[in-house]
Amino acid sequence: MAAQRDPGADLVGLFPPGTTLDGSGALVLGGVPAPELAATYGTPALVVDEVAIRARARRYADGLAARWPNSRATFASKAFPCTAVYRLLAEEGLGIDVAGGGELTLALAAGADPAGLVVHGNAKTEEELRLAVEAGAGTIVVDNFDDIDKLEKILRDTANATTGGEQPVLVRVTPDIRPDTHEAISTGQNGSKFGLLLPQAREAIARLRGSDRLRLDGVHVHVGSQILDTAPFAQAVEAVAELGEFAVYDLGGGLGSRYTYADRPPTVEEYLDAMIDVARRLLPADARILIEPGRSMVAEAGVSLYRVVSVKRGGGHTFVAVDGGMGDNLEVSLYQQRFEAAVATRPTGEGELCRLVGRHCESGDTLSAGVPLQDPQVGDLIAVPVTGAYTYALSNNYNGARRPPVVFVKDGAHRAVVRRETYADLMRRDLP
Ligand SMILES: *Cc1c(COP(=O)(O)O)cnc(C)c1O
Repeated sequence: MAAQRDPGADLVGLFPPGTTLDGSGALVLGGVPAPELAATYGTPALVVDEVAIRARARRYADGLAARWPNSRATFASKAFPCTAVYRLLAEEGLGIDVAGGGELTLALAAGADPAGLVVHGNAKTEEELRLAVEAGAGTIVVDNFDDIDKLEKILRDTANATTGGEQPVLVRVTPDIRPDTHEAISTGQNGSKFGLLLPQAREAIARLRGSDRLRLDGVHVHVGSQILDTAPFAQAVEAVAELGEFAVYDLGGGLGSRYTYADRPPTVEEYLDAMIDVARRLLPADARILIEPGRSMVAEAGVSLYRVVSVKRGGGHTFVAVDGGMGDNLEVSLYQQRFEAAVATRPTGEGELCRLVGRHCESGDTLSAGVPLQDPQVGDLIAVPVTGAYTYALSNNYNGARRPPVVFVKDGAHRAVVRRETYADLMRRDLP
């Protein structure tokens, strides 16, 4: 079946800014032709345009500071938890969100300033909270009353040099807002496992105000991910404003990214305007505002490269099977995220409507259910754009897959920041 690309669709426009085509028509990422990257690092590989992440970080930090000077942009690191990414965003002056001991360890290993760490999680163990307190984490977000019990116990046990025995905390509020996004990544509704509904949040606030070990700085709200309109963000600010005046308001993350031609997410500036307009009306003028973008900080900087292993036609379908799939990109099977794709050496022009599928033993292992690919052949290089967020983080060893390398590109240079797993790595934890 022939398929014409949407005439308005600018395929290259879905790739990181600065992506070009070389003389042969092949994609050039960060100044490096995609075939050269594949030849050097093999496939599958996750290529990340360092310049694109830095530019996005500055756009967030500067945009927020221009609208609300007493503020900080914080990277929700679960979207891409490798030390090279932590280091890059720490260098750009962002704070770092961590959920759990693993992300905390990675952030510290990357040299992130502990004072800028925001520690999240709906099930923080005492061990993890102790790690955070002892590291001098600037902010711990209380998700439940058990967090308060555990923290008070830890602070009774530990005289922490960095905080002088007093740990700053925020209370995570569930405002009962249901943004238009996939259920699995909606977090602000009644029935969410995250945070406290307003009555319970009030109770936690009262309890924390009476604590001599925990210093209540304010409240936190995060209503979901891949949100493609600004209204839920504005509503979230209205909801936290109802809880009263605080020194700090952490307004979370969640801005959607443009995965497909059809996606029209708000710009960073539109998103900031929506929240800060409400903040100006309802929050104290001297309050500090934090935001926590994850997906939108890194998604558009990433490109996954695969090699075509098989092309199979029948029953009206063309299956183009590649050497990766749900082992390196779970976004499709978890949230039915749609991705576009292209043959990296001839990305533009007319194509055959294909199902781009992975190598794993499940029918749900699809990278794109319907994408035009130009004359796909075994051995072709396939590029899937907008894979910077939640792919590396969710990569796994299903079917014995070795997790792919992460390769940074910048100004024509490339370097691996995470190497590909080896079969020896797969065996390492296995005790025969
Ligand atoms: C995941 C998460 C974020 C980031 O969400 P994105 O949709 O990736 O921007 C921010 N804050 C908290 C508490 C989160 O859990």
